[in-house]
Amino acid sequence: MTEGTKGLIFIGDGMGGRPMSEIDGRTTIEAADTPAMDRIAREGACGMMDPIAPGRAAGSDTSHMALLGYEPERYYRGRGPFEARGVGIEVRPGDVAFRCNFATVDGRTVVDRRAGRISQEDDIEQIVAAVRDNIETIEDVQVIFKPSVEHRAALVLRGEGLSHEISEVDPHSPGVEYWESRPLDDADDPEAAEKTARILNEFVGRVHEVLDDLEVNRRRGEIWERQKNGATDDEEIIMPANIVLPRGAGTAVQLEPLKQRYGLNAAMIVEVDLVRGLGEYLDMNVIEVEGATGGMGTDEIAIARAVVEALEDHDFVLANIKAPDLGGHDGDCEAKIAAIEKVDRAMDHVLNYLDFSNTTMVITADHATPCSVMDHAGDSLPIAFFGRGTCPDDVSSFGERACSRGIMGHIRGMQIMDVLLNMMGRGDKFGA
Ligand code: ZN
Ligand code: ZN
Repeated sequence: MTEGTKGLIFIGDGMGGRPMSEIDGRTTIEAADTPAMDRIAREGACGMMDPIAPGRAAGSDTSHMALLGYEPERYYRGRGPFEARGVGIEVRPGDVAFRCNFATVDGRTVVDRRAGRISQEDDIEQIVAAVRDNIETIEDVQVIFKPSVEHRAALVLRGEGLSHEISEVDPHSPGVEYWESRPLDDADDPEAAEKTARILNEFVGRVHEVLDDLEVNRRRGEIWERQKNGATDDEEIIMPANIVLPRGAGTAVQLEPLKQRYGLNAAMIVEVDLVRGLGEYLDMNVIEVEGATGGMGTDEIAIARAVVEALEDHDFVLANIKAPDLGGHDGDCEAKIAAIEKVDRAMDHVLNYLDFSNTTMVITADHATPCSVMDHAGDSLPIAFFGRGTCPDDVSSFGERACSRGIMGHIRGMQIMDVLLNMMGRGDKFGA
């Protein structure tokens, strides 16, 4: 063991991409102006990384689990518990947790799955209060509901005889009716699944009743009518958030704390509640950063400063900037490139302020979110190790093609911690 060495994993969320003709056959990382990441690649050890396995599209949650060395196939229990823990709801054994979207529906038809990415905090507060005040229990089950960022929220059902083995309510695309939750055909406990689906459907129905009638939504609905007809030149889209669509049902997660597993005193600086929830489960010190919004306008320098500061009294930090993923989901190349350049400015700050004679840093993505796919894809991702213990190669820029020629070859997410610990001089010897 080498006391005092430090490790940092820095994730540009969804930063990986595919070549696109509109950016001259380059990927968004290749097209972005990234002097700091290029320096990291030039002076560091590069390679390609599959977060789970080649070709498997990862969620942010399963990917971050693997990146931290916790096998998702073994430990993953659905997305809901991470989202819930991330917003500060304790998920107890027996609870069923969901992640939710505020959405806009017309009757049962989904007009927008994100209620126009609702971001007006006063409005959200009133909408959440209405849900909470009106729906505290359903049958003998306690309903716990909390907002996350923008259109996201978490729901926990607490009571006897519940199951996460039920189908989704969120149809995942607009223009169709939202679904009725049903017990899964192969549910271990069909009766519990039946009960949970029934309660969830009742929750969704009641939420719609309460929210459709709400003053703030009537106002939002009127604005939306005008916007729809092109009668305004408002920058922001305002839609009524008149329903909650739950998905990703899951049960409580049991994970060995990161400190116990690696002997590292660890912190997490991330913008997404889902990943923050993982940090809480791993008993990492989850640090909030003012100005880290999780949106395109996030303050990347504030995040970088927080990383530098956290490494003063922690051995290990995992940081994530969400913005590139948003550009990818929106299919907006230009926005994604701008977001990647934001990540690069954060890297530049980190390069200037950390002591790399005793710090090893990793820069990579948690998955690809190609603008051409507008969702996560299973493509391999560029990765670069920099600083203490790294052996430089001939790669001179950071990107999919360049890093594929690097010394690290092709690795998996589950191997990153071992590689990093070895470079930090904190690896365990196998054998005598
Ligand atoms: Zn992600
Ligand atoms: Zn995403």
